[in-house]
Amino acid sequence: MTASLHQLALAEPFRIAHGVSSARTVLRVEQEGCVAEAPFVPYYGENPEATLARLQSSASPADLPRTARLALNLLDHEIAARAAGRPLAAWAEERLGLPPGPPPPGCRSLGIPDDLAPFAEKVASLARQFRVLKLKLGSGDLGLDLAIVSVARRAAPETELILDVNGGWDPTEAPLMIWKLMDYRPALVEQPIHHRHGLEAWRDLRAELPAGAPPIYADESAQTVEDVPRLAAVVEGVNVKLLKCGSFDGAVAMVAAAREHGLGVLLGCMVESSLGTTAAAHLAPWADWIDLDGHFHLADDDYAGIEYAGDGSLVMPDRPGIGAVPR
Ligand SMILES: [Mg+2]
Repeated sequence: MTASLHQLALAEPFRIAHGVSSARTVLRVEQEGCVAEAPFVPYYGENPEATLARLQSSASPADLPRTARLALNLLDHEIAARAAGRPLAAWAEERLGLPPGPPPPGCRSLGIPDDLAPFAEKVASLARQFRVLKLKLGSGDLGLDLAIVSVARRAAPETELILDVNGGWDPTEAPLMIWKLMDYRPALVEQPIHHRHGLEAWRDLRAELPAGAPPIYADESAQTVEDVPRLAAVVEGVNVKLLKCGSFDGAVAMVAAAREHGLGVLLGCMVESSLGTTAAAHLAPWADWIDLDGHFHLADDDYAGIEYAGDGSLVMPDRPGIGAVPR
């Protein structure tokens, strides 16, 4: 097995409540002609060079940072699935014991804008293809957050809007913000409060939400399968990402737990190449929403995998394993 780091430049800086990025690093591992990828995100504070060194020091996989664990796990799946001539989704179906549903419509995410006029144009343009758009909020300016949603709703009257706050609202502000944003008919609100506040703050938020409030999904508060049962009473759904779980197996387990507890599933990704987003997309048939557009943020995506049709629907590659190939 060989491992290497790849620097992926972003097409334009991407701003969310956690900060601004202009490039991301991914770890790629390769064996027997199979390649798998896992991204580093600034949020987890894992050092790429140190992670690569740990990986090459033949430490036990369980002791490795999550980016390395995910890359190795995906490589194992890729090798096994390619040998069996079947897609990664076939393994997920067996493990879940649930028939695949139609994949949810594709979604594109918009970072926090500096200027609302070009933002409105971008929303209108994306809405011509995609039925779902995700708006990043938590700018630190509640007036700007409200303006972002108001402008987007005007630019895309029929589009489903997912509002992702990335924990950017204070628990005292969050209920009022959700109340105010109900006018714009959001499909759901993701991680309105910071994960450091814990379950008590989620309970308080739930108690203060009006009837008819949009579904609330946890993202940063829902890292792995263990978080699902305790969140089940306070949210309507969870955001499942391969990196959070540190493995494809862990993400499948999280989807299973969400289903068992009656929670919705938003399948997400990080900023990563199509090799990464295509691996995650194999879970789309068991998700209610997908947010698999991390590769669109890259200036130069060096893999080809999932695509979106003219009507925004997800198109999986017709190849075994992950199914992504170098461009
Ligand atoms: Mg999120």
